[in-house]
Amino acid sequence: MSLKNNKKPKIFSQDEARAAAKAILQAYWKSSDLPIDPEEIGAYFNVRFVEIDTDDDVAGGIYKKSGYPPLIFVNDRDHTSEHRLTKGHELGHLYLRQVVNNERDSTYEYMDLRATLIRDDVNNAEGFANAFANELIMPQELFEQHWKQNKDFFKMSSIFGVSINAIKRRLEELGL
Ligand SMILES: [Zn+2]
Repeated sequence: MSLKNNKKPKIFSQDEARAAAKAILQAYWKSSDLPIDPEEIGAYFNVRFVEIDTDDDVAGGIYKKSGYPPLIFVNDRDHTSEHRLTKGHELGHLYLRQVVNNERDSTYEYMDLRATLIRDDVNNAEGFANAFANELIMPQELFEQHWKQNKDFFKMSSIFGVSINAIKRRLEELGL
């Protein structure tokens, strides 16, 4: 959900979101170590991360002010496993802004409600950010490989560092 921004960003498809996340992983996550740390990836783009005390229904968001690096915030009441996908989702919004729309240094704010992060709308920024986050944090190839070996929600949740519900959504998305 966009709170305050100058113009509507141009949106790529979910397939393009997945391709973008894949390329970023190849460039910035050299090992196949899991779980993937979105903060380490964000650091390459000069993104700062912070946990804040915010409303219960808020998962996270972005604060970007012209002249300053982007700041991604997450709800400090959420578990680390939830933070991981929230950070991935916000990195997806940043990718849309900075790479797709070439807005390297504009001012904008996003605030994402918890409910937004599980939607799979096809052609909007939220659908893009969710597809981006899923591929970034649970890369298809590694995910399928581990699922074949384990077939266990709890193990998968611990390997990828996300909630069991996130694992279930990813399985459904990949048709597994
Ligand atoms: Zn969002």
